[in-house]
Amino acid sequence: MADIIQLLPDHVANQIAAGEVVQRPASVVKELLENAIDAGASTIKLIIKDAGKTLIQVIDNGKGMSVTDARLSFERHATSKIRNAEDLFQLHTKGFRGEALASIAAIAHVELKTKQEQDDVGTSIVIEGSNVVSQDVVVTPKGTSVSVKNLFYNIPARRNFLKSNAVELRHIIDEFHRVALAHCDLGFALYNNGSETFNLPVSNYRQRIVNIFGTKTNEKLVPVEEDTEVLKISGFVGKPEYAKKTRGEQYFFVNNRFIKSAYLNHAIASAFEGLLKSGTHASYFLNLSVDPQTIDINIHPTKTEIKFDDEHTLYALLRSAVKHSLGQFNIAPVLDFER
Ligand code: ADP
Ligand code: MG
Repeated sequence: MADIIQLLPDHVANQIAAGEVVQRPASVVKELLENAIDAGASTIKLIIKDAGKTLIQVIDNGKGMSVTDARLSFERHATSKIRNAEDLFQLHTKGFRGEALASIAAIAHVELKTKQEQDDVGTSIVIEGSNVVSQDVVVTPKGTSVSVKNLFYNIPARRNFLKSNAVELRHIIDEFHRVALAHCDLGFALYNNGSETFNLPVSNYRQRIVNIFGTKTNEKLVPVEEDTEVLKISGFVGKPEYAKKTRGEQYFFVNNRFIKSAYLNHAIASAFEGLLKSGTHASYFLNLSVDPQTIDINIHPTKTEIKFDDEHTLYALLRSAVKHSLGQFNIAPVLDFER
C-alpha cells in the first residue's frame, strides 16, 4: 500500500485553527485588544465598520515590533510570550498560544503597521489569506495598528453565518466592555462607523463601571474586598433591589482575564440567597487574584474557561466575602410578601 498521510500546508492549518479562535468579529476584537495590552499600551483605540464585517482596527501605543518580528508574528505558534511548557503556569500575559494573528490572517485581509520607540520609521505588512502581499517601510507613530478587513472573505459559509450588524455589534461591545473592565488603568476608545461610542479615561474601578454602564450604576454598587493567602477578591456586587431578569452584568475576572464559571457564579448566587426576587439575577464585577501556578488557562482556544487547583476553597471564600459585604451594607432579606 502506498503511503497516504501528508502534512497540511501552513495556510490550510491556519484556516483550521482559525475556526476555533475566530467565531465572529468580536473574537478578532478580543485577540487584538489583548495583544495591545500585552504590548504595554496605555491607550487603545478600537475602530469598527459595519459591525466588524468590513473593518476591525486596533491602534495601540505599546512597544511595537521589529521588522523581523512583525513578519514572524503571523506565523503559527510564533509568540514572544512563552518559551517553554513551564511558562504556561507563570502567565502574566493574555496571549501565549501564538495563533491569533496567524488565524486571523488566514481568513481576512490584514494590514499591520508597527514601530518601536527607538526606530525612526516602522514597517507595514499586508497579508491576505496567509500570503504576504507586501512589506514596506512606513512612517507611523510608536506602537501598533492592526486592520482586519473582509473577515471570512474566503469562507463563504462562515461569512453567511454571521448575524445582523446589531447582533454582531452587541458581541463586539460586550468584548470591549470585558477588556475595559479588566483594565481600568488603561484608556480605551471605541469608534463605530465613524462616531465615538465610548471614551474611557484611565480611572479607578468604580469610575470605569460607571463610565460604561451609566451614572445610575454608582448607587447600586456594594464593595467586596477580601485578602487571604490563596485569593484576593476586589470589586463590587449590585444591591439586590437592582437585580435584573437577565444575566447581563455579571463579570468575573481572574488575574485580569474575563472568565466564565458556572461554579463560581453559583457561589455568588448562593450568597444572595433570600435577598433576590425569584427569577432575577444579581449583577457583579469581581476580580480574583490568584497565584498563576494554581490555575490552568490552556483549556480552550478562546481562554474564557479556567481550571483552578482548589475550586472548593475559592467557592467558599467568594461566597463568604460577598455575604459579608451584603451584611455590612445592611441589606436585609426580602420579606416573603414582597415577592
Ligand atoms: P500571542 O498573543 O499568543 O503571542 P498572537 O498571534 O496574538 O499570539 O501574536 C503573536 C506575537 O506578535 C505576540 O507574541 C507579540 O510578540 C506580537 N504582537 C502581536 N500584537 C502585537 C502588538 N499589538 N504590539 C506588539 N507586539 C504584538
Ligand atoms: Mg495574542
